[in-house]
Amino acid sequence: MAAGGFWQGIADTLKIRTDKPKLVRAQVSALSRQIPVLYMLLLANAVALAYTHYGSAPDWMTVYGVIVLGVICVVRAVSWNRAKVDIDDFGMCVKHLRRIRILAVLISVLFTLWAVTMFEYGDAYQRGHVAYFISITVVGCIFCLINFPSAAMLVVGIVLGSFVLFFGTSDNEVYVAIAVNMALVSLMIIQIIRSYYANFAGLIETQDDLEVQHQEIMELSRANEALALIDPLTGLSNRRAFFAILEDVVDAAQEHETFAVAMIDLDGFKPVNDVHGHPAGDELLQQAGERLRTILGPDTLLARLGGDEFGVLLRGYESAMALMALGKKLCDDLNRPFMLNGVTVQVSASLGFATYPAVSRTPNGLFERADFALYHAKNNARGEAVLFAARHETLIRHDSRIEQALRKADLSSELKLHYQPVFDLGTGKVNSLEALARWDNVQMGPISPGTFFPVAEKTGQVGFLTRVLFEKLMIDMADWPEELSVSFNLSARDIVLSDTVEWLIEEIRGHGIDPGRVTFEVTETAFLRDFDAARASIGYLRDHGARIALDDFGIGYSSLRYVHELEFDVLKVDRSFVAPLVHNERSRRIVKTVIDMCQNLGIDCVLEGIENANQRDVLIDLGGQLMQGYFFARPGRAIRLDTLEDLHTQ
Ligand code: C2E
Ligand code: CA
Ligand code: CA
Repeated sequence: MAAGGFWQGIADTLKIRTDKPKLVRAQVSALSRQIPVLYMLLLANAVALAYTHYGSAPDWMTVYGVIVLGVICVVRAVSWNRAKVDIDDFGMCVKHLRRIRILAVLISVLFTLWAVTMFEYGDAYQRGHVAYFISITVVGCIFCLINFPSAAMLVVGIVLGSFVLFFGTSDNEVYVAIAVNMALVSLMIIQIIRSYYANFAGLIETQDDLEVQHQEIMELSRANEALALIDPLTGLSNRRAFFAILEDVVDAAQEHETFAVAMIDLDGFKPVNDVHGHPAGDELLQQAGERLRTILGPDTLLARLGGDEFGVLLRGYESAMALMALGKKLCDDLNRPFMLNGVTVQVSASLGFATYPAVSRTPNGLFERADFALYHAKNNARGEAVLFAARHETLIRHDSRIEQALRKADLSSELKLHYQPVFDLGTGKVNSLEALARWDNVQMGPISPGTFFPVAEKTGQVGFLTRVLFEKLMIDMADWPEELSVSFNLSARDIVLSDTVEWLIEEIRGHGIDPGRVTFEVTETAFLRDFDAARASIGYLRDHGARIALDDFGIGYSSLRYVHELEFDVLKVDRSFVAPLVHNERSRRIVKTVIDMCQNLGIDCVLEGIENANQRDVLIDLGGQLMQGYFFARPGRAIRLDTLEDLHTQ
């Protein structure tokens, strides 16, 4: 078996591996460098041998024979050097190898014959040179052919074979010893060739494997890249793809080319997610994507940018009118009810447009302005499309000036708290105070909280404002009567961050104030943002003794679920219900219902924005007791614990 394996190994080594094109090419490439060297070595050694035999051997051997051999060597060497071996042509490579093998046999035979014939003519030294010539030359040649064992083995076989035979059969003991020596060396050389070649072939194969692996990796990463551009939920493009394409389109835009970027945002998506669960929310987003796709057609870039926000790139729209008509169509279509697993839900969609080049010439500029138009739609025209216009530019500038001012200002000295009392109509006394922020900026002058809080929310600065203001409240409260309680407004961002909430409690404790004196006012935007986080924060604040008020009740969604699931201590009815009370029976009924509900739940109901006696009187008739508004007192710096009687006698 072992012997069989050995001979099989030899046989394999002798083959030209046409089944391994990579290996064949590598062999030809290596040989193309080594064969010219081989010929030069052959020639140099032949000349040396001819030189020592010049005079003792006939001239046809030492002069003409060498010239003929020399010409063959030079021609072959030059042709190898010249021929730019094209290793890409596999057929050619195999041909090269075959030719090398034939020439190896021919040249071995020729040189051996020449040397052996020369042997007859010399004295002992010259014969020694022949033996030396043959052995050293053949070893050199074999190393030149090592990448092509087929040829190398043939050379070993022919040259060393005849050498061993020739010397081994002579009567001279020294020659026999040399022959035995050479036979052993031959075996060793064959072994070296075999193991070298095995390594070489293995290396090429590894390279081959590596290349295959590399190809596979490249393919995978291409597939990944495609995936990285798709939103897996809706199958639409994702945010990355949207911005990449928008950038390309802006870069390649021709003179007079127009296009529009649209941002679409669903209003009321979050409650669907909260009430019906995430799978329903996902389903809604998929259906919304399909509706948009149906209207926009397959060729318009439509992407889900994240959450419930979609982006559209509209190329070649005709006019602003046409754009607005399309915007209306998109919004109207999303306002139709959705069927989610047998449940019907309804959301609305707002949309903002920004056009190139009228509104902006940069991808970012377009995106920001479309986003601003959307933000404007959400605040002023819910469920509609808004086209970014020149007047928005002033607003955007104003916003960014505020943002800058917020960054630069020394807020701890520029921010102040004013206090507006809430009166208890039953006792005629102040029930509590509401803390309202005031900002007087050195450059921009006074800025109302209704203006700067939304900007601070957007830019993430609001947490800092909250801390500065609350710190001030704590300092003020230290001077007030023990029984006076205060309410403090929290922004949606504050309430979803647990560390802010924990900080508030620490602060109250640190100032030695009874947490029961502090009410935190929150609006439902916090629950729309992150219901679970908001619920956790509210729970935390209440567990530590503070009270919670739901502010601006009645606008937005005012889901009863919030009142049901979150325990509020106070409900503040938005002033937009108070204003029409006197003339509007319906608002009277609504307010009455809310007052009754609070009574049934055992929580306080504060009525905001009372500006005149008529409103006060109607509210008293409806059962209202806690009231706040300019009619009683405006927010101010000075704390006056007047009773209502004091106020009216003044
Ligand atoms: P809000 O919490 O609903 O506060 C009531 C707003 O109505 C205050 O406006 C107050 O001055 C005003 N107001 C009170 N009585 C009347 C009235 O009879 N008629 C009318 N038309 N308005 C009345 P202000 O101070 O400009 O604050 C606006 C909003 O800014 C607040 O609405 C609140 O959302 C926010 N805000 C104010 N201070 C803070 C604060 O310290 N933190 C946070 N996060 N938000 C604050
Ligand atoms: Ca408030
Ligand atoms: Ca309010």
